[in-house]
Amino acid sequence: MRSLTYDVVVVGLGPAGASLVYLLRNSGLRVAGIDWVGPEGVWGKPCGDAIGAGHFDRNGLPHPSGEALMQVVNGALVYSPSEEGVLRLVGEGAGYMIDRNKYGLSLLREAQKRGVDIYFKSRASHPIIEDIKVTGVKVHSEDLGDIEFKAKIVVDATGSGGALRRKLPKDWLIVENPPETDFVVAYRKVVEVNYEIENPDHIRLYFNENIAPGGYWWLFPKGKNVANIGLGIQMGRGYPHPAKVYREVLAKRPDVGGEVRVISEAGAKIPTRRPSNTMVWNGFITIGDSAYTVDPIHGGGMGYAMTAAKHASEAIIKAFQNNDFTLRGLWTLNLGYMKTTGAKQAALDVLRQFLQTLSNEEIEWAIKKGLAGAEEVISVFGEGEFSMTAGFLEKLNVVVKLIGKPSLLMKLMNVNDYMKRVKSLYKSYPEDPDELPTWITKVDSLYKEYKGALNIPF
Ligand SMILES: Cc1cc2nc3c(=O)[nH]c(=O)nc-3n(C[C@H](O)[C@H](O)[C@H](O)COP(=O)(O)OP(=O)(O)OC[C@H]3O[C@@H](n4cnc5c(N)ncnc54)[C@H](O)[C@@H]3O)c2cc1C
Repeated sequence: MRSLTYDVVVVGLGPAGASLVYLLRNSGLRVAGIDWVGPEGVWGKPCGDAIGAGHFDRNGLPHPSGEALMQVVNGALVYSPSEEGVLRLVGEGAGYMIDRNKYGLSLLREAQKRGVDIYFKSRASHPIIEDIKVTGVKVHSEDLGDIEFKAKIVVDATGSGGALRRKLPKDWLIVENPPETDFVVAYRKVVEVNYEIENPDHIRLYFNENIAPGGYWWLFPKGKNVANIGLGIQMGRGYPHPAKVYREVLAKRPDVGGEVRVISEAGAKIPTRRPSNTMVWNGFITIGDSAYTVDPIHGGGMGYAMTAAKHASEAIIKAFQNNDFTLRGLWTLNLGYMKTTGAKQAALDVLRQFLQTLSNEEIEWAIKKGLAGAEEVISVFGEGEFSMTAGFLEKLNVVVKLIGKPSLLMKLMNVNDYMKRVKSLYKSYPEDPDELPTWITKVDSLYKEYKGALNIPF
């Protein structure tokens, strides 16, 4: 069998993998990127296509422009189940609706120009494992046949399937099996509509447990007459598939059903939970959906994938400087991610589980009251913690709004307390890999205690 040797092999060239090869393009390392799709299928996974503008500068990536930028997003409208309550979240230039393929390809082309080798139409089947470390990956390429890629570091960026990670030995702590309820299955159509979309610079999110239990449905304009419309539904609870709900419920609405042409349609699974306990092992890294680096509340994973890629690129460069590709040598990826974005993500996982227990009546009430209004929502999304901790006045404001629902107030105080505790556990992520098992035990028991305290049934 043909064998090729690189310093780093990145499998999967979606938002996580493409960002990583782009960020490594000037590193001087020999880098290969592998994906089973051709250029036309790059970043082809179904997505809402919305991304916050802040992710690009923060992670050293170019902002989308030209054909890759379909719509600047200046605000979001959040609807209550009856749609009588609407929260307006305004943020000039807060985000973008992108053409994923065009943006993803632009990163890959730039990386190729700087010497990164890209292998399209090449499917990775197995990690190559020697003793206790990953030393390469077996690939079947449409053009080159069977190839063994050997590398000091192999990166699994294959999305929620975790094509390599799930084939590692079960006793490696990087292999995890979260419950199905930690995932949503989401489905979306990109359609040309037969009406002019009002305020196309505002994305719309609709919370309604009868339509999207444990998730929400959305209408994200991509200009005046094209929209990305879809819904995400919590898995593992016997709810119907979102494609069926789209067809049988959403399509009956004039704004959804008024389609002239379907540009694309598909569904996929999204991890809406805390990140993997470790994103590295000996000779191995996992980032993006494969490592569950997704916002647990809104299911946005592109920005988090980019952040994980940024930390991975720094850890890889450091590993080569120190000539150490072991778990210990790559550990800085965990420290960089877990103490910042990971801590926020884990706190939002606490909030997500609580929100998934709310009834339509409670959601209606909260949105109409302006609770979880702009400040709270921004603060929650920004910090992974309620702003009620921030200052007395804000706290008082929230409490006053909640006076009509004392039990909800008590629960929220409790949720807030667990969010803080979880966040602090992630901020004290172990400096030494030997302490990982003890830390995992602490995390598992804190979430278990939380589920018991809040009576979360899944
Ligand atoms: C319906 C829906 C709506 C969403 N909406 C949004 C949104 O609006 N905003 C947002 O930020 N996020 C959204 N997300 C989440 C977002 O799409 C993902 O979090 C993001 O794409 C993850 O990037 P990734 O690179 O980790 O994985 P992916 O995008 O899944 O990319 C993985 C890549 O690996 C390749 N691959 C897989 N297996 C192999 C193999 N064995 N060999 C070679 N290649 C392989 C695939 O071809 C693919 O290119 C949505 C998801 C869904 C399903």
